[in-house]
Amino acid sequence: MKKSDDLRKKIAYERKCFWTDTTKNEQKTAMKFAENYKKFLSAAKTEREVIDYTVEELKGKNFINIDVPQKNNNNRRVYKVFKNKAMAVAVIGKNPMSEGVNIVASHIDAPRVDLKQNPFDEDKITKLAILKTHYYGGIKKYQWMSTPLALHGIVIKANGERVDICIGENDNDPVLVMPDLLIHLSRKEQMSKPMSEAVSAAHMNVLLGSIPYYEDKEETKDAVKLNALNLIFDKYDIKEEDFLSAELYLVPAGKARDLGVDKSMVIGYGQDDRICAYTSLQALLDVMEMESDKTSIIYFFDKEEVGSDGASGANSIFFLDFIGDLLKYNNEDAGSYNTRKTLIKSSVISADVNAAINPNFPSVHEASNAVHMGYGVGIAKFLGSGGKGGTNDASSEFTAKVMRIFNEEKVNWQIGALGKVDEGGGGTIAKFLSYHGCDVIDCGPGLLSMHSLNEVCSKADLYSTYKAYKAFLLKA
Ligand code: MN
Ligand code: MN
Repeated sequence: MKKSDDLRKKIAYERKCFWTDTTKNEQKTAMKFAENYKKFLSAAKTEREVIDYTVEELKGKNFINIDVPQKNNNNRRVYKVFKNKAMAVAVIGKNPMSEGVNIVASHIDAPRVDLKQNPFDEDKITKLAILKTHYYGGIKKYQWMSTPLALHGIVIKANGERVDICIGENDNDPVLVMPDLLIHLSRKEQMSKPMSEAVSAAHMNVLLGSIPYYEDKEETKDAVKLNALNLIFDKYDIKEEDFLSAELYLVPAGKARDLGVDKSMVIGYGQDDRICAYTSLQALLDVMEMESDKTSIIYFFDKEEVGSDGASGANSIFFLDFIGDLLKYNNEDAGSYNTRKTLIKSSVISADVNAAINPNFPSVHEASNAVHMGYGVGIAKFLGSGGKGGTNDASSEFTAKVMRIFNEEKVNWQIGALGKVDEGGGGTIAKFLSYHGCDVIDCGPGLLSMHSLNEVCSKADLYSTYKAYKAFLLKA
């Protein structure tokens, strides 16, 4: 070996490829880890569905709902569901919580297309029944056209009864679609316009039905819409007025799948940020089996894609309030002072996805500062846009501590900024959590095609993220 090679090995930094750096055994474990992840992605396509899935899993592991009074507070495994859209899960450690806790916090909402509050209409020219929509989060609208969609969500009837809706996921279900314009007639309407204008929100109507309702062989007003409403009434016993208060989301229909001839990747909807929710849950379930000194907590927040506002977002009182709940449950002082001090002494991972370099569009990244697929979980000291606008920016002390923990636990990790400086940018929940004075760092896997209907992750990075969160919960 040349002298320069020796020196390079000794003092130069190089990120490590999971597929060449780890044993065949560990790679097999990573491949296996992805199997249940695909099932989770396919089953949980809304924040409510993620919560239902998680609560089901927790009940099987003897976790209790902290809001339900218990005979004693001996169970160290607790969870809380907040407004049916956010949740937190904790494994209480041996040390007092007020000495500080370890937290991994992610978000479980994803970009989607919602139905408008009064969605039903019949197009006057075509006599087709349609549903009107209002998109949620950052989407490229054209990606949602002419692709099979499923309808997920809930309707609360006038008597208060909740009806869960899911149309388009079973093989026998019909799907829905927003029909795009044929290429032959797109020259002026679409092809000569900038991408952001080629499909507008007003084009995103959903085809609902085409058969009119007939009475005595005489067509009635809006007969196609009426027929569709009648079919829905027959199946679910819900009327048009019930939709005015409903929460119904259109999401891509179908399951998450393996990607690539080597099956090294997963393609599926909603991986931003359910990949972090899933890996943090699996990490916590492992920590649960160990006698940990510190309390481990994971949070699933809603509303990240629209700015973390609202009662179920990371900028709400829920983050602080659950710490108070836990202190009280653990027979510690749950007053405002002690609750605040507990968070100030705590360590937090803001668990969110990063942008891996896309071979089709490498120019928006700087390769040495970006996340590469298959090279492990990404650590982002800061995000934001422009001159670090709107960032948390983890301290050097805390960043080095996290790197040390990952190295000790042989986690494949890399540093990752979100694109070149001034290329664009984005934020996470990190800045809302750090408001409480805790140490916070962004950490999560890189995805390709983030916010598209078919996001891609590497199974190596999925597994490395799980390992990273577990190491952090145990050692931070
Ligand atoms: Mn995200
Ligand atoms: Mn996002």
